[in-house]
Amino acid sequence: MSLHDGTLVLDTHIDIRWSDTPAWTTETRQLVDLPKLRAGGVNGAVFIAYVAQGKRDAQGHAAASARAAAMLEHIAARGVAAGTRFCATPDALEACFAAGETAVLSAVENGYAMGHDLSRLGAWRAQGAIYLTVTHDGHNDLADSARPKPALGDGPAEHGGLSPLGEQAIAEMNRVGLMIDCAHVAKAGMLRAVELSRVPVAVTHTACTALCAHPRGIDDEQLDALKACGGIAQMTAVPAFLRTAPAGQPAQASVADIVDHMEHAIRRIGIEHVGISSDFDGGGAVQGWADAAQSPAITEELARRGYGAREIGMLWSGNFIRVWRAVLAG
Ligand SMILES: [Zn+2]
Repeated sequence: MSLHDGTLVLDTHIDIRWSDTPAWTTETRQLVDLPKLRAGGVNGAVFIAYVAQGKRDAQGHAAASARAAAMLEHIAARGVAAGTRFCATPDALEACFAAGETAVLSAVENGYAMGHDLSRLGAWRAQGAIYLTVTHDGHNDLADSARPKPALGDGPAEHGGLSPLGEQAIAEMNRVGLMIDCAHVAKAGMLRAVELSRVPVAVTHTACTALCAHPRGIDDEQLDALKACGGIAQMTAVPAFLRTAPAGQPAQASVADIVDHMEHAIRRIGIEHVGISSDFDGGGAVQGWADAAQSPAITEELARRGYGAREIGMLWSGNFIRVWRAVLAG
């Protein structure tokens, strides 16, 4: 068995097309579908119920909430296909891997979808969601975004971190066992979430601003905070986060770039606090890891740099599962 095949490979952030979603069990033009996951030796895929930031009024919140619930229902239904399982716990994920089946998992991106109703958090967990990304691009009523949206009336900072509702949401996520994801959240809010949370916090799709100055990356102080709380920083395959584009050109990045970002984080805070996710079908794709079928390229680059099976297993899923277990244990 190859190193890659022996590893529980978990991609913790994958978007889906909505609402004209193609069947996922056949080859599609999406970067992720079941045939590509199988070809790439990916054992688990966290699909995202993503809601773009919109108007923060009753109508906007109701529409966002309905969309998130419908997407979670759709994602769970992916796990009834032959050879797949919908997994809502680490034990289920590990059993699925042991059985040689493909795990389908879900999460919600953008706390906007809860409106002002904290009970949505427990409802999402009851639908199987494993984490909530607290913001997307644009401030919401919980926290400031790392990328404000002036078109929605955003200034640089609105809450100066988390709002009182955002602080209540952190406590409620702890209570119901929903992992806190601070990808997209402005630095002050991310640090405040780490401070308030009783359990480790994740940043599921990011990069290191020490290597590439981009508002969606996190700096060394944020990395240190993740280490201190026992959390995890997952480097993602979005080229603009990894490598600064030459003027007037789109950013381009490679497998080596993403592993460079992983290694910066590893040197700073230790391998047990670092992971990886693709953000496929949501802006992720680099040269050499352009779709799920090419996932062995990451394992090969890590092995080439001297990482062994145990370390590669930690990076692909072990660290994330440790954080997830801590979140569920409360
Ligand atoms: Zn995102």
